Amino acid sequence: MDDHPIFNDEHRAIRKTIREFVLKELAPHADEWEEAREFPSRVFKRMGELGFLGLHYPEQYGGEGGDYLCGVVLAEEMTRCNSAGLAMAVGVQTDMVCALLLKTGSESIKERFLKPALRGDKIGCLCITEPDAGSDVAGIRTNVERDGAGYILNGQKIFITNGVRADFALVVARAKGTEGTKGISIFVVEKGTPGFSVARKLDKVGMHSSDTAELVFEDCRVPAENLLGEEGQGFYHIMWELQPERLFAAVSSVAGAQLTLEATLKYVRERVQFGRSIGKFQAIRHRLAGLATEIEAARQLTYYVAGLISAGEFPAKEISMAKLYATQVAYKVADEAVQFHGGYGYMMEFPIQRIWRDSRLARIGGGTDEIMLEIISKQMGL
Ligand SMILES: Cc1cc2nc3c(=O)[nH]c(=O)nc-3n(C[C@H](O)[C@H](O)[C@H](O)COP(=O)(O)OP(=O)(O)OC[C@H]3O[C@@H](n4cnc5c(N)ncnc54)[C@H](O)[C@@H]3O)c2cc1C
Repeated sequence: MDDHPIFNDEHRAIRKTIREFVLKELAPHADEWEEAREFPSRVFKRMGELGFLGLHYPEQYGGEGGDYLCGVVLAEEMTRCNSAGLAMAVGVQTDMVCALLLKTGSESIKERFLKPALRGDKIGCLCITEPDAGSDVAGIRTNVERDGAGYILNGQKIFITNGVRADFALVVARAKGTEGTKGISIFVVEKGTPGFSVARKLDKVGMHSSDTAELVFEDCRVPAENLLGEEGQGFYHIMWELQPERLFAAVSSVAGAQLTLEATLKYVRERVQFGRSIGKFQAIRHRLAGLATEIEAARQLTYYVAGLISAGEFPAKEISMAKLYATQVAYKVADEAVQFHGGYGYMMEFPIQRIWRDSRLARIGGGTDEIMLEIISKQMGL
């Protein structure tokens, strides 16, 4: 990672600073936060103070003015905190919520929401998914009606990361009477707005330190200035937002898989059966060599795409390929790691089971494997 030619000295310096922070201030609390099913919101504040939330955002909005690869470094180093849920929650803030605010927000929105979000003073969530509309974003039913100087929202959102604690939500809704990709808009809804409530905190297989919510909007009045971007263009804004989100998943998956491989190499060297280290058995050695090769291939593809995004391109086919491949490799590495740890791999007191549970999500969230294949095949003209 550190010595890859895509990174320069500035990236290496940022990496060092973030790694020190993650190992000192986050990793020691991972078990406690996983157990508590949440991490304290002050983590956002601390990361904001250190400038980590705004690494690749313009200085005029309180960011550090770095390039996209600075954000890649943050995503990679956050995997060292041993709590993928925490890393995901921060990623939602940096690579979903703030990305959309910067791209589509008016100056007033940027002042009221982007700046405090980059400081870690306000936490945001992005609400696309509904009980009856996940992969099919154009199938959302949450509706919006004009009401004098503002809008009224009615609907339900599910599986929303940061949704329990969020100070504001970016809510995707459609104008009454519209269908498909037309008539969809995005609104910023602040916590405390009458009609906006958290219906429940969802219990998950993994990503335990991250909060996931079901949210309800009942005759929820939103001022006109809280519209994000142009009215009716929300579907296209979301399709844009999903691109950096998917590369974030790919980057985190590769970095996480590398750490899992390293931990597994250590284990197979130390674990002795039949009088020798289990890593000496060809059946295990060759599979580890294969996994290392797949991680390397995923890394090269992911870095190639990160370089394109850094240059201002958002190639949907290659981004989908990177997300598909990197998340599948990460899950395969985690699954094989459990196997190589034997019974210990299945025990809650060993970290491998957590990695296995957590890594399953990336093949679902932000667009499933099947949706990535759909996008790739369409781009191939099929
Ligand atoms: C922990 C967690 C956090 C999340 N965080 C957020 C968040 O912050 N904000 C948000 O808006 N959403 C969030 N999501 C939702 C996530 O993006 C969706 O779960 C995902 O897009 C899939 O939608 P679905 O669950 O409705 O599955 P469905 O769309 O119902 O899919 C079910 C199955 O059918 C397959 N399928 C669907 N359509 C096709 C097709 N055309 N061709 C082939 N196969 C198909 C899918 O690949 C999948 O295997 C989160 C989900 C989880 C689990």
